[in-house]
Amino acid sequence: MKEILLLKLGEIVLKGANKRQFEDKLRQNVRRRMKPYGNFDVYIMQSTVYVEPEDELADVDGAWEACHSIFGVVKLCRCRPCEKDMEAIYQAVEAYLGDDLECAESFKVETKRSDKVFPLQSIAISQEIGGRLAEAHPACRVDVHNPAYTVFVEIRDLAAYVHGPAEPGAGGLPTGVGGRAMCLLSGGIDSPVAAYMIAKRGVEVECVHFFSYPYTSQLAKDKVLELARLVTRFCGRMTVNVVGFTKIQEAIRDNCPEEYFTLIMRRFMMEIAQRIAKQDGCGALITGENLGQVASQTMQAMAATGAVVDIPIFMPLIGMDKEEIVTIARKIGTLETSILPYEDCCTVFTPKHPKTKPNLGQVEHAERKLNREALIAEALESVEKITVKYHDDPLL
Ligand code: ATP
Ligand code: MG
Repeated sequence: MKEILLLKLGEIVLKGANKRQFEDKLRQNVRRRMKPYGNFDVYIMQSTVYVEPEDELADVDGAWEACHSIFGVVKLCRCRPCEKDMEAIYQAVEAYLGDDLECAESFKVETKRSDKVFPLQSIAISQEIGGRLAEAHPACRVDVHNPAYTVFVEIRDLAAYVHGPAEPGAGGLPTGVGGRAMCLLSGGIDSPVAAYMIAKRGVEVECVHFFSYPYTSQLAKDKVLELARLVTRFCGRMTVNVVGFTKIQEAIRDNCPEEYFTLIMRRFMMEIAQRIAKQDGCGALITGENLGQVASQTMQAMAATGAVVDIPIFMPLIGMDKEEIVTIARKIGTLETSILPYEDCCTVFTPKHPKTKPNLGQVEHAERKLNREALIAEALESVEKITVKYHDDPLL
């Protein structure tokens, strides 16, 4: 049976002169995301993306599932198209939604008529179709105020479409309309959520991960790549830059006062992340920092780590409670992987009594014995760029 997916746009319809650019981006994104599911024609009309299977082989179930995680779509519905004719509309509802009506206690019909040439008005269409459905399904009564089920009829330019209740989309803005940013991705709960939240605002996300082999294991690296893969369900393919961090951590351990270890390490992370960001055209960094969660997440510590960076640092989780972050991690499907026990390099050489209220002068003094530039240059030489896609095999 022929079906079509209609994706409804949210905020982006409000963007005035940018509307065209937003729509073009969204159409490209949807087209690319539909590729694994076969041949689909993707076009936008009247603030709606139409995703139409072009042949019998197209995997409509897979496409429908994937459309739920495309940013820029506020709601979506799976429809049956039919001719713009009352008999054809009634027959389409009966064939496509009749079973749903058999199971429901009550229903109503809601019509949207964007084709103003169609001879009947919305209310008349709803009344006529609703009346015929009520006769055909006597166990399902009409309730226009609080129906258990709603049949939707949309009279649009090309055809009429009938569908049941719409489902919520991923929201946000189409990936790519908001530029590009570099997320510092650890294996924890927070940073994948941070990447998701900024990606949701239309930003193309790239990641950097600092890896301290053999202090952290190959599994820890796979875990991070797997987290990145899970986030690509929403943001499309991404690059993960894996940076060898062992030498820097050892140099810090050997040359700096213990209470500053974490802070100095984080300053290196930020500076290296910024250098890769600039090479790759990213205009901001993203971290999963959260005020007061650990010693390195006080205002003073953030000032000391932020001082090595001159582009914006986005910290979308800064004011959230852990429970709120966990809820999002669960929703986007990263939580289970994040809580696997493989250690992050942040747990290597952790000070017993970290400095929680450092000032910049003290930190700079604590790292004076290090040859920062040489260490950074060597780390940058080690960068491994890995492309991650949602349809790659899971790594864990
Ligand atoms: P997360 O759950 O994201 O690991 P966290 O609460 O454990 O965060 P920290 O370990 O202090 O916090 O790290 C703060 C932020 O620094 C992380 O959210 C992440 O953005 C970045 N970060 C930490 N470790 C790494 C790493 N090994 N590679 C890349 N970024 C890292
Ligand atoms: Mg961490």
